[in-house]
Amino acid sequence: MSERVLIIGANAAGLAAALAARRRRPELRVTVLEAGGDASWGACGLPYNLEDPSRPPEDLRVRSLRHLREAGLEVLLHHPVREVDLRRGCLRGERLQGAIQGGAAAATFELAFDRLVIASGAELRPLAVPGLPDHVLVGLKTLDDLRRLKPLLPGLRRVIVAGAGPVGLEVADALANRGLAVVLVDPAELPLVGFPRELRERVAGGLRARGVELHFARRLLRAQACAAGWRFELEGGSGDFVEGQLVVNCSGHRPATGFLRGSGLPLDGGGALPVDEGMGLPGGRIWAAGDCVIREALVPPLPDEPARLWNPQALEAVRGGRVAGWNAAAPGGDARRLPLSPGTQILRAFGLEIARTGRLRPEAESSLMQAPPPADPGRGLLGAALRPRPRVAGLEALPARVVVRSSTRGHALPDAGTVSLVLEGSGTGRLRGAALVTAGSGGLRINTVAALLQLGAGVADLAALDLAYTPPLGPLRDPLLVAAGELQRLISS
Ligand SMILES: Cc1cc2nc3c(=O)[nH]c(=O)nc-3n(C[C@H](O)[C@H](O)[C@H](O)COP(=O)(O)OP(=O)(O)OC[C@H]3O[C@@H](n4cnc5c(N)ncnc54)[C@H](O)[C@@H]3O)c2cc1C
Repeated sequence: MSERVLIIGANAAGLAAALAARRRRPELRVTVLEAGGDASWGACGLPYNLEDPSRPPEDLRVRSLRHLREAGLEVLLHHPVREVDLRRGCLRGERLQGAIQGGAAAATFELAFDRLVIASGAELRPLAVPGLPDHVLVGLKTLDDLRRLKPLLPGLRRVIVAGAGPVGLEVADALANRGLAVVLVDPAELPLVGFPRELRERVAGGLRARGVELHFARRLLRAQACAAGWRFELEGGSGDFVEGQLVVNCSGHRPATGFLRGSGLPLDGGGALPVDEGMGLPGGRIWAAGDCVIREALVPPLPDEPARLWNPQALEAVRGGRVAGWNAAAPGGDARRLPLSPGTQILRAFGLEIARTGRLRPEAESSLMQAPPPADPGRGLLGAALRPRPRVAGLEALPARVVVRSSTRGHALPDAGTVSLVLEGSGTGRLRGAALVTAGSGGLRINTVAALLQLGAGVADLAALDLAYTPPLGPLRDPLLVAAGELQRLISS
């Protein structure tokens, strides 16, 4: 009988793994178990499909079931795995009845594996608002979520988006573009936790300018029906409340690994599976990829920074899946590795492009920053350089950071917007990370820094780059070059 590889999860990482395993060894029996009723669809497109009333949710499908079966895969939908038994080398779960994940179990199953790939992705963090019935609270993580949410929109005027992370901003933008009033509520002080404070302030200003009602440092405490729909008391304020007809839960994601508890597999504090560069887990029989894993970070950590990075992004999932599937098909021999990633991310919302890559000191560090030296007026740019005040001996160990504001267009061209850029380097001149917010387009310049980080380049390498210029697309000296020059001076001073 042929060897069997089981794969948990039939989206980006799981299907990349399944196809890679069959490519390497066409005689393998590869079975993909999927909890939901859809396989192979693009989660990144959910907000854009939501925005367009003419597109059916099924537009987000990438590969059809027929295509997957023709590629030799066995795909079992409505098969949530509930338990991994390492000792007996098998999975146990349920076969659900009906099209909706979470429906009644028709039967249980037990399947033995020779090797296993876990690609169960991420799940929405639950949001509980006492008093709010289930039908008024929706998420946007799966195609079923989209099928549920989209038909509700024509009957709505005002929607509350709970969570101002990347997905929250994209969803808020989609709803606003459909003519709905949007209320954004988040327990953090500013949107986009994890981005530098300077940029988060700018994004908050941009949202406000576009008419979004913002409630930061607030949480939905409890709900009560009212004439306008639902009235929510806000925690964190004094008697504050907001009203809306629906709540979209955008409060973030976490690795979907609850079913692995008790299996003996290692899980980090956030529930992710720590894999090696070959996407392997200890024991030599199990691999994992996608949003459910955590890997060593490309940019070396400072003593107080975590060594590993959770990078729940589509490209990382596909690439990790390919490596996991390849290695699971034939352990040993010609093993593949996934190069370490800087963790690069971009989003567009409310006319802004927002991106980051690598490591940036958390914002608490801002209070340790000294006042910036004056900008060089000769450049026509406002440049602000910040350097960490030495808390302990060994300033070289601490990173330096510059903040630059520049124009989106060349000298004297009308309708220019602003690019705000944060660049960080180590005391030894190595690049650590960057983040930017730009009006209109230009957010993809983050890829320049991402590429240099992967090549192990320094701040001086960035400063010396020959970057393209034409006035309608940016200033002669790209903000990246200005920031790198400032950072070089700061580090060497
Ligand atoms: C709204 C939204 C916007 C996004 N935008 C971007 C973007 O612009 N750029 C970007 O790079 N990334 C984006 N992402 C992230 C990207 O979609 C994910 O990184 C990618 O989908 C991860 O793929 P995955 O296969 O690891 O996980 P998933 O896509 O989550 O797939 C995991 C699959 O496993 C199944 N599963 C889970 N548990 C079990 C179980 N116990 N048994 C059986 N099956 C199980 C799930 O049902 C699911 O189908 C976005 C995500 C969302 C939700």
